[in-house]
Amino acid sequence: MKTPTHILIGWGCAAAFGWDGALRRACVIGAVVPDVPVIALWSVIAAKVTWQNGGYVQSQVQAGMDALYFSHPLVIGLHNLLHSPLSLLGLAALALLAFCRSPVCRRLCLAFLGGAMTHALVDIASHVTDGPLLFWPLNESLRLAGPVSHWDPAFGGHWVTAVELSLAAGFGLYAVALRWRRSAAMAG
Ligand SMILES: [Zn+2]
Repeated sequence: MKTPTHILIGWGCAAAFGWDGALRRACVIGAVVPDVPVIALWSVIAAKVTWQNGGYVQSQVQAGMDALYFSHPLVIGLHNLLHSPLSLLGLAALALLAFCRSPVCRRLCLAFLGGAMTHALVDIASHVTDGPLLFWPLNESLRLAGPVSHWDPAFGGHWVTAVELSLAAGFGLYAVALRWRRSAAMAG
């Protein structure tokens, strides 16, 4: 899914667990951070293609992304560290058993990794050919083909994008209305 959708799902899951303050922030950050490496990579490739051609050429950007996304070990590692369910479970075990000394640290780490897990599960369901590697770092090929793709028009990408945009817009309006009601109540 796209970043605003991941933010909403991370926020919603944190709210469902009754997490607020720092825990909710950690969960939302965890839901967003997994895509930072591919967004950075896409930006560099898109800028390079645009510079070389005097304009954006989608097919060249896609080819450049695919070449690295599916075969460059560093890109695969950076992407799947927070996208592979197995990797996330391993990181949770490391945080609980080795790194975190205090209960606060443990709770924040688990909220962050919980947010990243919502991201991974949603991506598994919304990618057909390019979803997360399920068992990275032990396996570098096994992916699940989701029922729809959030970006590929061949697998419903257009209507998934429309649903995502409507959800984000609906939530944005709801948040503005809530804030307006609160400030009106405080003023009254
Ligand atoms: Zn993702």
